[in-house]
Amino acid sequence: MEDCIFCKIINGEIPASKVFENERLVAFNDINPKARVHILIVPKKHIESVKHLEEIDKELVGEMFLAAQKIAKDNNLEGYKLVVNVGREGGQLVDHLHLHLLSADAII
Ligand code: AMP
Repeated sequence: MEDCIFCKIINGEIPASKVFENERLVAFNDINPKARVHILIVPKKHIESVKHLEEIDKELVGEMFLAAQKIAKDNNLEGYKLVVNVGREGGQLVDHLHLHLLSADAII
């Protein structure tokens, strides 16, 4: 997607502090962290939001959660929050599906 900031990160057009990457996902530190640890887990496939998920994306969504589990463990997080904002009213600012992984000190 041309004007999508997360697609630009995925394509390497703009830099990000990546903490995890495989063929289907990338995870990087949020530029404006709301907690000590604030990482975004992002599918490389451009999906606008949860509203745009299809049957075919089921496995990808599962992978996002498993990546969150691994990254949380790598960061020694005993407890944490996983947040998905959906739509402008739901607080979604970037129209590319992403899972927020936040350490427990998050103010959300
Ligand atoms: P949301 O409100 O759920 O759409 O969250 C979008 C998140 O993306 C916000 O927490 C932003 O701080 C974060 N963000 C926006 N641009 C960047 C960027 N270039 N690198 C890292 N995080 C970003």
